Amino acid sequence: MAITYEQALASVLPVVRTQGVHEVPLPDVVGEILARDVIADRNIPPFPRAAMDGFAVVWTGKETEGTYRVAGTVNPGTVWSGNAAEGDCVKIMTGAMVPAPFNTVIQVEHSEIDFGGSVRFRNAAKSGQNIAREGEDVLKGTVLLPSGTFLSAHHVATLASVGQWEVPVYQRPSVAILATGSELVEPWEGASGPMIRNGNAHFLLAALKELGFRDVRYLGIIPDDRETMMAKIREGLTSEFLLISGGVSVGDVDIVPDCLAACGVRKILHKIAVKPGKPIFAGESPGGGIVVGLPGNPVAVMVHFPMFIRPLLLKATGATEYLPKPILLPLAEDTVNKSGGKKFSIARLEKKGAETRVVEIPSHGSGDFISASRAEGVFEIPMGTSHLSAGETVRFYPIWGNFLSHEG
Ligand code: AMP
Ligand code: MG
Repeated sequence: MAITYEQALASVLPVVRTQGVHEVPLPDVVGEILARDVIADRNIPPFPRAAMDGFAVVWTGKETEGTYRVAGTVNPGTVWSGNAAEGDCVKIMTGAMVPAPFNTVIQVEHSEIDFGGSVRFRNAAKSGQNIAREGEDVLKGTVLLPSGTFLSAHHVATLASVGQWEVPVYQRPSVAILATGSELVEPWEGASGPMIRNGNAHFLLAALKELGFRDVRYLGIIPDDRETMMAKIREGLTSEFLLISGGVSVGDVDIVPDCLAACGVRKILHKIAVKPGKPIFAGESPGGGIVVGLPGNPVAVMVHFPMFIRPLLLKATGATEYLPKPILLPLAEDTVNKSGGKKFSIARLEKKGAETRVVEIPSHGSGDFISASRAEGVFEIPMGTSHLSAGETVRFYPIWGNFLSHEG
């Protein structure tokens, strides 16, 4: 029996090797994977920081009784060096360092300034209020971002805050792409009769670009001919990853696994109990690289780039979290799974009232890439489940589309 999708990933992931480390400047880190722990070089906040515009006092609990002399003003980025007598306050701005011995800030909205420049407070104060204590977020020496973090824009402020301008990140593996099939022509060529245009290779190139991979070679279309295929495979095996579309199924012209074996590729798996993508092949090249053969059906390629290949690429790039993360959401309508095996079914999300629901997109199967191009992801129908009812919770994987741009 074919192994499960999870077993398939578990059998290839240990073979994946990480690359070396290099430094990239801070503006270029988005999409890279951090190669060293980032440590706080100071306490954060680094000094007692006023969190409001107002007046700093030494707390007594009697702030509403009597008036205070204002001994000076403290602006952000300055150290106040004036003198204050007992019972004085200082005017202070958000972000400024609260000078000793002051320990409480009363916001300007709760204050009244007299003509003579003294101030009285309308509201009782709590000791320590409106001051972010030194080190209250993290102490110097704390790990802020662990090695292996997949960096996005919201990590950049943290890197900047510790002065990390040259950021150590993992090098990415090189990738080669090969499309097999005597029926294929390129998008810029005319297609007639039994010929179809090569969508898979261009999808893979675009998906790699989206993931930030730059060392990518496209080796073109090869017909289902053993000699040509072996020559191209040998060329592709010089990359750390070789991704092949088509030719891994059981037809007479599905010669990719044989050709790979003849080129010294060690088979790790061939066939997974999942739809689409059942005939997937994975192996290890003589040089220790990874070879993945995807069935030519375009939906299988579109699903298994994010679900199967992306985890391998991320692990090769040093990521510690590389498995796709599902979101648990209710299904909008009943669905059936005739195969009985695990299925990744294409779907969109729909917001209905307070609820976001998973809407399955009707499809003619794994050749129907037009339906898949309207989807935002896939949801899982587990192995052995032949029917799911509307309202049942499913695991949705948001693998396509720009989820950040979604409005309710
Ligand atoms: P195969 O896995 O080679 O048997 O191909 C399965 C199906 O996918 C066939 O209908 C192919 O014509 C189609 N197909 C194969 N390669 C591609 C490709 N690069 N782009 C679009 N469709 C393809
Ligand atoms: Mg083929």
